[in-house]
This record gives sequence, C-alpha cells and structure tokens, in this order.
Amino acid sequence: MIQRSNDPIAAIATAPGKGGIGVVRISGGNLEGIAARLFNVTLKPRHAHYLSFDDAQGQAIDEGIVLYFKAPHSYTGEDVLELQGHGGPAVLRRILQRCLEAGREWGLRHAEPGEFTQRAFLNDRLDLAQAEAVADLIDASSEAAARSAMSSLSGAFSQEVTALNERIIHLRMLVEATLDFPEEEIDFLEKYEARPTLESIITDLQAIRRQARQGMILREGLHVVLAGRPNVGKSSLLNALSGDDIAIVTPIAGTTRDRVIQHIHLDGVPIHIVDTAGLRETTDEVESIGIARTWAEIERADAVIHLQDARAPNDELEDEIARRLPSRAPILKVFNKVDLTVEAINTAPDQTSHSAQTGSKPDADRVPLHSESDANSASSTAHSVESLYISAKTGHNLDALRQRLLDIAGWAPGAQSPWLARERHVLALEAAEDHLAIARSHAEHDDQVLDLFAEELRLAHEELGAITGQFTSDDLLGEIFSSFCIGK
Ligand code: GDP
Repeated sequence: MIQRSNDPIAAIATAPGKGGIGVVRISGGNLEGIAARLFNVTLKPRHAHYLSFDDAQGQAIDEGIVLYFKAPHSYTGEDVLELQGHGGPAVLRRILQRCLEAGREWGLRHAEPGEFTQRAFLNDRLDLAQAEAVADLIDASSEAAARSAMSSLSGAFSQEVTALNERIIHLRMLVEATLDFPEEEIDFLEKYEARPTLESIITDLQAIRRQARQGMILREGLHVVLAGRPNVGKSSLLNALSGDDIAIVTPIAGTTRDRVIQHIHLDGVPIHIVDTAGLRETTDEVESIGIARTWAEIERADAVIHLQDARAPNDELEDEIARRLPSRAPILKVFNKVDLTVEAINTAPDQTSHSAQTGSKPDADRVPLHSESDANSASSTAHSVESLYISAKTGHNLDALRQRLLDIAGWAPGAQSPWLARERHVLALEAAEDHLAIARSHAEHDDQVLDLFAEELRLAHEELGAITGQFTSDDLLGEIFSSFCIGK
C-alpha cells in the first residue's frame, strides 16, 4: 500500500561506495524546524550555503553545501533539504543519523525505496510514466536506453498518450451528450463525424503503440537461446557476437556445463544470449541439470539460434526445440564453420529451397539469410525457420545474423528515437486499441448502439489513463515505486 502523507523522510541519495561527493536528502511538509535544529541559521531557498555538519554535541561530522528548496518548487513538491558532504559511506551514514536524530521531534524517518519519487508523483510533479522513466534512466545500460528514458522523463511519451486521451474524451463527451437526447441519436455519428474521428484516433494509437514497443525492447531486451551440440562453436559465436560490446558476463551457479547469460548490445538494443549446456543424452547428473535448464530457457525464449556444424549438420533436435518454444519465436538454423568447407553448404539440409530460388549453386559469400516454412518439420508448429551460414572464426555473415536478431526484436534502427516504455504501457495501449476496435464495429452497424459505443470509449480512456497514473490502483503504484532504489 502506498503512503499518502507528508511526514518528513530522509535517505542517502547517492550510490553506496566512495565518491567525491555524497548527498543526504530530506523531504517533508515543513522542514524549517529541522533545518534550524541542524544548522542554526536561516536557510535561503535555492541558495548554496557552505556549512559545518555538526553532531548533537557540536562536533563536526563533515562540512559541505546545503540547499533548501521550498515547496512546491522541489523534486517532491514538498520542502526539500539537500546536504552535500564528502562521499564516503561512513561519513554519509553519520550525517543521515544526525538528521534523523535532529528531526525526531518532527517524526523524521528513513525513506522507503522510491518514496521521494512517489511523493513527486502524488504531488503532480511527475506523472506515472515519467516517474517510471526516472528509474529507467538510472537503470539504463546503454546510451540509447538512457536517451530514450530521458525522452520519457521529459514527458514526450506522456504527452502523446494524454493528447490521444483528450481526443477520446472529446468524442465521449459528444456521445454522452447525445445519449441524453435520444432523438438525436440517429445522426450522431454523421453529425459529429464520429467514424472518421475514431479512425484517426486508432491510426495514431497504433503508431504510438509501435513506438512504445520499440521502447520496451530497448528496456527489456531480447532473449535468445543459443542451442546446439557440444563443439559446434557456441562459445566462439557468443564471443564473436559480443565483440567489444560485451557489457556483463554472468556465469550462473558455477560449472562450465551450466548456462551462461551474456548481455550484449546491438545498436543499443540489449540482447540476452543464453549459452546452453550442449544438448545431448547424458547419464552425468550435473550435465543433465544443465540440459534441463536449457530446455527451460528455450520455453521462454524470443528466438532460438540452433547452431550446427556446417560439415555435419543435424536437425534431430529441431522438432523438440520447436515443440517447446513459444509459438511466435522463430528458429534460426545457423550453420557454423563454413570457413572449413564451402562444400558443406551444398550438402546442408536446407540448400534445396535456396538452390531453387537462385537457380545456381550457392557459394559461401553469397549465401544470404533466407526464410522458408518448415514444411518438413514433423511438429508442424507455426515457427518460422530460417537458415544462415556463418563462421564464428572469420566473422563471415555475422552481420547478417546481428541484423536478423534486431529484426526479430522489431527494431527499426532508422526509426525515431522512441521513449523508453515498459511492458505495462504496451499492454495498456493494446487493450485501448482493442476497445476502440470494438467501438468501431458498433459504429459500423445500422442498429448503432450508442451506449455500447460510449462504453468502449470509456474503457479505452481508462486504459490510457493507467499509463500516466490517472487510473492506477494503489497496489500497482506500490509495486512500481518499491522497485526503485532507496533515496530516489
Ligand atoms: P561449443 O562447445 O559449442 O561452445 O564450441 P566451441 O566454441 O568451444 O568451439 C569448438 C571448437 O570449434 C573450437 O576449437 C573452436 O575454435 C572451433 N570453432 C568454432 N567456430 C569455428 C569456425 O567458425 N570455424 C572454425 N574453423 N573453427 C571453429
């Protein structure tokens, strides 16, 4: 449950660890008493005071800059005090302790995670999408993500959503006014051009939804499973793909037979590649745990790269992979080590359709990515199956593979820089679009049912309002803010 109060709260606002400067921040309904107790001087709002930070006995803990922001002109919309001292963990803890002690009389307490930003939201300094962008800007792992988070924080995303919602509200007003005067109901749709208006709202909503999806990918990344038999070159491919771009390597729970998630950025898009324990029958207990995890990863992947040795391709695992994979996720059959043999391409299981298309023998340099339906697959699932011939060693065709991964992510590199968006935003936009589509179908029929039309508009309005926090449950708000770091 989120708290709606303005009792004073305090926290260290800078990152744990050592730094040149560290900040302790206090926010509350009225901080004049606490400020006077701490500093014995009258603080001028928005003025940098250079002061000594003393303990209760008058001994200096540190010295630094104090800033006082008078409500409502502050981050939280309340009175805010910022104490900028030296950035050491012990000294900052002492400054915080001193503040808590000096403010006890006013009920000063330690802030919960995200509580400063939550207050900014409750005091209308930020809407919910902007508040989320604060956390996303802090969490951004690539420059592209940071740029987009900033764009959301500045309100670009919220403005688009709000503008769209205003158009829906206007249409709703017209419909609801008409409902009060039933004799006009018949021409309402004509008279107010309700159909073309709705149509243009839907078109613009779709454009926003596409951009939000891009923003979501930028935030969440694409989950790719790298599957294949031992020795086909999975580790080599991972290393080649990550190049200098490698951000973090996370070996999970120890053994080389276990999975490893590698986070790379392609064009600023995070791609999480799960390197898997070689899939094969085994009696080794540790190895079979690794294999079970591999299957679990495949079951929630956005795409699978099924790596094979171009000289000895095998696809006996493909049906099993296809069976376990989420239905929209494509399978990329990637044949590695083409540097060792060009011949291998001609004998690869997929060359039939390729040869048929080009009418000539493929050579290694012209083997492009090509798609085909997996007609031979016994599983007859809806996965698209594509083949690509590469060499992890020479880098041959790796650019095509990178591009393909970006395509799967739905990433349009030339597209306008999107805002950073969350899955909940995309889901709300999709739900709003569904309601508008139902409204449209009500409007298309002769026995126009204006009250149903109006109801769908209302539901769409609520979905969009949830993005900016206009209609958002306390539970969801609590969940969103509690995922922030302390001091933010
Ligand atoms: P993994 O067991 O699937 O992770 O395979 P590795 O990445 O460890 O590779 C197995 C062996 O194949 C190593 O000796 C690699 O150097 C070699 N290898 C991997 N990719 C290529 C390639 O594209 N060309 C050649 N010639 N050798 C490769």
